Amino acid sequence: MKAIVVQEFGGPEVLRVEDVPVPMPGRGEILVRVHAAGVNPVDTYIRGGAYARKPSLPYTPGYDAAGVIDQVGEGVDGWAPGARVYVAGTATLGTYAQWTLCTPSQVHPLPDHVSFEQGAAVGVPYGTAWRALFQRGEARPGDTVLVHGASGGVGVAAVQMARAAGMRTIGTAGSETGAALARAEGAELVFDHHAADYAERILEATGGRGVDVVIVMLANVNLARDLALLAPNGRVVVVGNRGTIEINPRDTMARDADIRGMLLGNTPPGDLARIHAGIVAGLANRTLRPVVGRRFELADAPLAHEAVMAPGAHGKIVLTMPA
Ligand code: NAP
Repeated sequence: MKAIVVQEFGGPEVLRVEDVPVPMPGRGEILVRVHAAGVNPVDTYIRGGAYARKPSLPYTPGYDAAGVIDQVGEGVDGWAPGARVYVAGTATLGTYAQWTLCTPSQVHPLPDHVSFEQGAAVGVPYGTAWRALFQRGEARPGDTVLVHGASGGVGVAAVQMARAAGMRTIGTAGSETGAALARAEGAELVFDHHAADYAERILEATGGRGVDVVIVMLANVNLARDLALLAPNGRVVVVGNRGTIEINPRDTMARDADIRGMLLGNTPPGDLARIHAGIVAGLANRTLRPVVGRRFELADAPLAHEAVMAPGAHGKIVLTMPA
């Protein structure tokens, strides 16, 4: 089969297609024929070799995919070949490959009305958005939520979830197409996060009260401003961060506010099972509708890695597999 194999950490050019054997499912494993794989920013951090958790070389990147179950290993109950699934994590090989191996808790049903490309956009982005909004952010119906970076994979997912759960949803984006997407997916108001006055306009839009929860995709730029946008008892959930920032701790005191970090990989198994139960239901009832902005062929994975780090996000970037 064709798979991306990284032989050394480095720039996008280290993502090279190789011919490797199709893996065989061992006991408790499921072999999935991958139709599309999701490209996440973390894939680029790992590829560059600077990420805290580094795989041993060589490795195949990717956490997310969608496809069809091909074979099930001994001891696997409840899954059979032919089932359409989305993949959120893998057992050995990554998802940038024509086949991948998973444990049963890493595969979830994909409804017929959700395409494989959309399914590849689910795992990390929707899992992160659910964890940030409901579990770490403790957002509830009636709350006002700011999705600070609403145009990309996690942001679109968070907007859809907040809207479906009865929250007032405000978003930001850095381009007009990203803003239009966030609006179309349920944000009542969308501001340009490059504009000088957007924080004041968010405050105005809430009648000066502020927002209950901020989900921030670039905390090193926004955290100080986000704290000043919080309502009493508000929470900032740090999802994305690429550097350091100075904040005024008084902004937390004045509001009894919390800064809550999160890493999807830290999620306890019980919480993860609840997250995917919610996502599976949301896909089935169409309140969650993954948006694929760009697609690349597997061999063009280097271009996909450049694109996912470029400004002007518009939903999710996926890789399609050779037939
Ligand atoms: P993505 O699809 O590439 O989207 C990036 C988002 O960040 C876009 O909405 C982009 O908006 C926005 N952004 C850019 N500049 C911004 C600014 N100054 N203020 C606010 N937002 C800004 O990436 P993603 O998959 O949604 O992930 C978003 C971030 O979360 C990444 O840093 C990723 O590494 C991180 N993440 C963390 C976890 C975790 O477990 N903690 C899990 C998944 C992702 P424009 O392009 O419209 O400017």
